[in-house]
Amino acid sequence: MRIPCPICGTRDRREFYYQGAASLLDRPAPGAGGEVWHAYLHLRDNPAGRTRDLWYHEAGCGAWLVVERDTLTHEIFGAALVETSDAD
Ligand SMILES: [Zn+2]
Repeated sequence: MRIPCPICGTRDRREFYYQGAASLLDRPAPGAGGEVWHAYLHLRDNPAGRTRDLWYHEAGCGAWLVVERDTLTHEIFGAALVETSDAD
């Protein structure tokens, strides 16, 4: 599997570290209840088909990417840099 890093170009999957579903970016508010945090921290889907995942270009530019791919066919539809809300 090859991943198209927006900075480095298309690279082998072994250069990247897989973090998990892109929904991990939707962190609950600090005051959210225990059930909300339990679901965020411990419950994972195991989808078959098109997904959006977080990948870290560990052996490349060090960027975090959201990669859209199909878990059944391993087809990669695209990759984009993770946008942060940090103003500084
Ligand atoms: Zn890169």
